[in-house]
Amino acid sequence: MKTLISSLILFIMLIPSIAMAEIKVVATLPTLGAVARAIGGEDVKVETLATPTEDPHYVDPRPDYVLKLSKADLLVYNGMELEIGWLPALQKNARNAKVLDSGPGAFDASRYITPLGVPATKVDRSQGDVHAQGNPHYTYALPEVVRVASALSDKYQKLDPDHADKYKQRLEQFKATAKARDAVYQKRFASLDSRQIITYHDSMVYLNQWLKLDQVGTIEPKPGVAPSPSHIAQLVTTLKSLSPKAIIQETYQPKATSEKIAKLLNIKVVAIEPGPKDNEDYFVYLDRVIESFF
Ligand SMILES: [Zn+2]
Repeated sequence: MKTLISSLILFIMLIPSIAMAEIKVVATLPTLGAVARAIGGEDVKVETLATPTEDPHYVDPRPDYVLKLSKADLLVYNGMELEIGWLPALQKNARNAKVLDSGPGAFDASRYITPLGVPATKVDRSQGDVHAQGNPHYTYALPEVVRVASALSDKYQKLDPDHADKYKQRLEQFKATAKARDAVYQKRFASLDSRQIITYHDSMVYLNQWLKLDQVGTIEPKPGVAPSPSHIAQLVTTLKSLSPKAIIQETYQPKATSEKIAKLLNIKVVAIEPGPKDNEDYFVYLDRVIESFF
């Protein structure tokens, strides 16, 4: 009887360790979370910090984020200082060496992309420019996201070699879906009568490069700096001699100025969500973004 009870206790003690064989991932942003789920499948458990409607520059650091980070094996973050205003304090307070920048579980996704907008000379953040390390908004561009997915598959394989084949397979599936989607999107954008766009925040440069759009103006004079009346007046004068198709902005940005300018130019305002909804597939989200342009 005693043996049976001790075997039973041992068995119960083993259950959690079996169930917790998966990698515990925390992703800062919904797009990174969706990619982490797509490549990790049932071998990972992904939690995402920022909500699908939040400005990634200014995420509200809720207290439960520290708890999530304290238990994480892997922190997947955007980098290029996008999360500089809120992530470092969470990393520090989580007291989990794995997810510090220098830790084995820190995954700075920006290391695997081809950065755009990196200033040739040092930019002083005190002037309000929030893109001092280059433009951090690469997750709107499929080719960059594929690079991140590829590096993430490698990282999973290192952390969990037993399931290496599954991480490789999911990446191949992801790449195949991306290739098919890319062909469809390229065709759709090729049919546009004008490829000129205006953006509110300078967050579309990677998407512009990918889909061959021509950004002819930004409503913010500098990333993170609110537009002044004189900047708007000058912008409208410039735009009148061009033929922009639309003003693209994120749903979290104020719409009044965009709508005023759009009315003057007789074009539309397209408001895109910064990332997938909870548990939404990355490609389903991307379809929604692309669809909103037309
Ligand atoms: Zn930005």
